[in-house]
Amino acid sequence: MAGIVDVAVVGAGVVGCSVAYYLAREGIKVALLEREAIGSGSSAHATGFISLLGTEFTPGPSFQFGLAGYHEFPSLVEELEEETGMDLLYQRRPSLRLALEESEEELIKDLMSWQKEHVAMHWITADDVHELEPRLTPSLRGAVYEDESAQLDSYRLNLALAAGAERKGAQTILREVTGLTSEGGRITGVQTRGGGISCGTVVIAAGLWSPPFQRDLGFPVPVGALKGERLLLKYDGDPLQVLISSPKRGHMISRLDGFLSVGSTGGRDYDKDQLYQGEDMDRLTTETARVEIMQRAIDVFPDLENATLVQQLAGSRPLSPDRKPIIGPVPGIEGVVLATGHTTKGIHLGPITAKAVTEYIQGGCKKVPTSIETFLPSRFAGLVQADFQTAGLDVEE
Ligand SMILES: Cc1cc2nc3c(=O)[nH]c(=O)nc-3n(C[C@H](O)[C@H](O)[C@H](O)COP(=O)(O)OP(=O)(O)OC[C@H]3O[C@@H](n4cnc5c(N)ncnc54)[C@H](O)[C@@H]3O)c2cc1C
Repeated sequence: MAGIVDVAVVGAGVVGCSVAYYLAREGIKVALLEREAIGSGSSAHATGFISLLGTEFTPGPSFQFGLAGYHEFPSLVEELEEETGMDLLYQRRPSLRLALEESEEELIKDLMSWQKEHVAMHWITADDVHELEPRLTPSLRGAVYEDESAQLDSYRLNLALAAGAERKGAQTILREVTGLTSEGGRITGVQTRGGGISCGTVVIAAGLWSPPFQRDLGFPVPVGALKGERLLLKYDGDPLQVLISSPKRGHMISRLDGFLSVGSTGGRDYDKDQLYQGEDMDRLTTETARVEIMQRAIDVFPDLENATLVQQLAGSRPLSPDRKPIIGPVPGIEGVVLATGHTTKGIHLGPITAKAVTEYIQGGCKKVPTSIETFLPSRFAGLVQADFQTAGLDVEE
């Protein structure tokens, strides 16, 4: 085991592996600790959609962070593919966010009123949509069209970041972190079942398993679990040329490996009366979700009646009470940085989170980068009980 390192990163999902990679790239000595396997958490189940159009990003710093996160990908993907020889199945494409119902049209147009100041987009009619993709349902009201979206395989991204970090000198240790060590108001290392590791800074990137660390930190780390399922289909027709989503029916993406991804359950069933929440990671796939996702997909693209199911995936998102990530130092205690609670956007925001965390650590943990001021853990000071129920129901996917 690495006895002394500069930084110990807890959790090898996309967020932790991004942090390890960005730090190691700067020559910082990193230990990346994982209790199960690399990419065994939420990150392996994600669609890998990098989109700015949904309700997740709000006007101001939140949207700017999303935009910066989107722009981080082209060079990162190129770098990782070159370094690891892996194909991340990254595709940059225009996207269509469809409205099948009046309420969806209202929601999309409402968001467009401020989003279009930052990303070129325009509303197109149902006829325009059918010109682009004639196979979509005739009962469409229209869509927003834009060309700042991408998608990749999140599991491959996770593995490539871990492999890239190792190549740059990071040490991966498959051990559960059981606690933090501290000395006079400063975190000085981590404890594992196989011994301790001393370090200058601990980064907690343990996704929905981050809350146990609040005991050693004496500060709230409010992260819940929001289950999501999606399907991979084999469809023999031509692949879709645009990335498709809609507020009530989720995404529909022809992946570069030939499968069509549809879903996800946005943490709840269609009638909003049942939250897919769990105490811990729930990887069990359900028939309810399978039937619901398939029906939604056929509503949008009727020819999917002829598609066959290849794989059903289930995972849980690390849900924060305001659905925004929790990134930065913890008030009142030095030597620790949180990078967790990314909810529905951990793949999109993993690399840009790592960039901010690296800048903060490289600067001697003195100045918080402006880009993460909105996401600081300090916003939860004094929180007694987080309302994950409301947060979960507000997720649109
Ligand atoms: C169906 C579905 C679709 C999604 N689609 C998208 C999408 O299209 N775009 C997007 O941006 N996001 C999407 N997400 C959300 C995304 O998956 C998450 O936000 C993201 O994966 C969170 O990454 P993470 O690294 O924080 O957590 P995780 O990937 O869960 O990683 C945390 C890791 O920490 C480890 N760990 C926990 N405790 C310890 C410990 N004590 N010691 C050592 N290791 C520990 C765990 O084993 C795990 O490997 C989706 C999620 C789901 C479920």
